[in-house]
Amino acid sequence: MFETTPTRGSSVIYSSGATGSPDLRFLHYNDVYHISGGSQDPVGGAARFVSLANHYREAPEFASLPRLLTFFSGDSFNPSLESSVTKGRHMVPILNKIKTDVACLGNHDLDFGVEQFMYLAKQCKFPWLCANVVDPAVGGPIGKLKGTHLLKNNGVKVGVIGLVEREWLDTINTLPPNLQYSDAVETAKELIPQLRADGAEIIIVVSHQREPNDVRLAQETPEGLIDIILGGHDHHYAHQIINSCHVIRSGCDFKQLSYIEVRKKTKDNSIPGWHFDIIRRDITKEIPEDPETVQIVEKLSSGLRAKLEQPIGFTSVPLDAKFTTVRTRESNIGNFVCDLMRYYYSADCAIMAAGTIRGDQIYPKGVLKVLDIVSCFPFEDPVVVIKVSGAKIIEALENGLSKVPALEGRFPQVSNIFLTYDPSREPGSRITSCKIGREEIIPDKKYTCSTRGYMAKGKDGFTALSRGDGAEEIVDEENGVLISMIVRQYFLSLKVLGKWRRGGRIRDLFRGLKRDKAGEGELEGSAADESNGEDNELSDDESDDVEFDVDALHAGPGDHSEDEFQEPEEFRSRDLIKRAGLNPLGLSHRRGRNLLKKFR
Ligand SMILES: [Zn+2]
Repeated sequence: MFETTPTRGSSVIYSSGATGSPDLRFLHYNDVYHISGGSQDPVGGAARFVSLANHYREAPEFASLPRLLTFFSGDSFNPSLESSVTKGRHMVPILNKIKTDVACLGNHDLDFGVEQFMYLAKQCKFPWLCANVVDPAVGGPIGKLKGTHLLKNNGVKVGVIGLVEREWLDTINTLPPNLQYSDAVETAKELIPQLRADGAEIIIVVSHQREPNDVRLAQETPEGLIDIILGGHDHHYAHQIINSCHVIRSGCDFKQLSYIEVRKKTKDNSIPGWHFDIIRRDITKEIPEDPETVQIVEKLSSGLRAKLEQPIGFTSVPLDAKFTTVRTRESNIGNFVCDLMRYYYSADCAIMAAGTIRGDQIYPKGVLKVLDIVSCFPFEDPVVVIKVSGAKIIEALENGLSKVPALEGRFPQVSNIFLTYDPSREPGSRITSCKIGREEIIPDKKYTCSTRGYMAKGKDGFTALSRGDGAEEIVDEENGVLISMIVRQYFLSLKVLGKWRRGGRIRDLFRGLKRDKAGEGELEGSAADESNGEDNELSDDESDDVEFDVDALHAGPGDHSEDEFQEPEEFRSRDLIKRAGLNPLGLSHRRGRNLLKKFR
């Protein structure tokens, strides 16, 4: 069905050269959030994903082979549009439908608290593992999870251990107190011999940590201790062999998976170890949807969807929300949102952790839907304003840059901050220059800074922005407005987003040299605000800051092909707003909050 060569979306990642019937077969996936597919390939979607998994399970060419073992490396219960309503419940039937055999705990699986996670895990027909985070209150791994698991398949005992990194524990809002974290390498060295003693012939790590931490795990454990590391937490596809150990991460979001065939190096075990043959599959449009899963997804998303499918505005340039962009350099969507956060409260600057941006895609030129905004910014904590010293701002930015080149969510997206940093320097002293506006930042001067409530709580290493570190709250969480609401209010007032360019805010010392022409421009905007400016607070505030580019607004079909976007004129009409079910009048903060509830 799919294997007839060449199959679109299928690529051989590693070929061992081994032949004959496999001894084991694995399917691996990680970091799944959106159960509905997208519109551009790889479209993903749970229904196509299940169909492909079933194909590897049941198609004639596979039916006589060993049963497929399915491994999931964490992050599924949040964040997504659905999860904001279901608190993760919607994902349970999907994970079960995929016939997952073992999962590793991911950070976002704990977003609604450990209790809720335990409630969800109980309904899963497979164990969740986490060996190296111990909760003294339960006398074992967090959430009463198991650390390791033994599976038997085709006469082979398969040992699985779940390991996570320390970094993401700092990012979670609500965790039990006194958690004890043990180093993943040390935990592997301690627990894997026990799995071997229990008869495990092959050792699989399911992990939820960044690629460099998986690499370190492979590097710092004795050769042969671990056979393969199936990682999650990153969203890109990657494979490497470190110290004879395969290290894989399989993309994300039901858009990719790995199919792995495993063969003993020698049948009599005279040479220990295993050959792995790894195929990456992208979930493309050609893959049929599994009808039962379609029904599950439909049921879960109907109602919610109709409201969210409404257009909210129009962008004349693609908005780059890809993780690989927003977590490594400034991006137009990061600049756009940070500028709005700053304008909204007339703050001196804004800092937003890139992890706030969840879209992980490029929003093409054209219509933006309510869904695009809410699913790109699903977090529940509002924007706050704090007063902090220049020294603390530097400290916060250093924290944001400290993990580069890892794709960490703490990477800073900023507004009215212009910095240069040198990633070859030690974390904590990478910034070589920093300006607020046109002036060098002054360490003992106080600045107002828009940021997320999450960061002002010192999460993700942003202690420098917390009250405990001397930050003064100007607008607290109680009174703050959600990012998605600020963005939506902006569109309601303007209708058309112009060119939010990369503006030379953040420069990697080396990359920056190559493209030093970015200049200091920030918003090259285009907007129309004829219909309701008077009624809308945001637009009043905006009028001095935003340069309107009327030409771009009136660009007609001659400049763009018809199918790329609809006439911008349409987006200036009140009808559109009414069709979207939104009230164009009087969007006060309070009413704005009520408005959002409609879409939850
Ligand atoms: Zn994660």
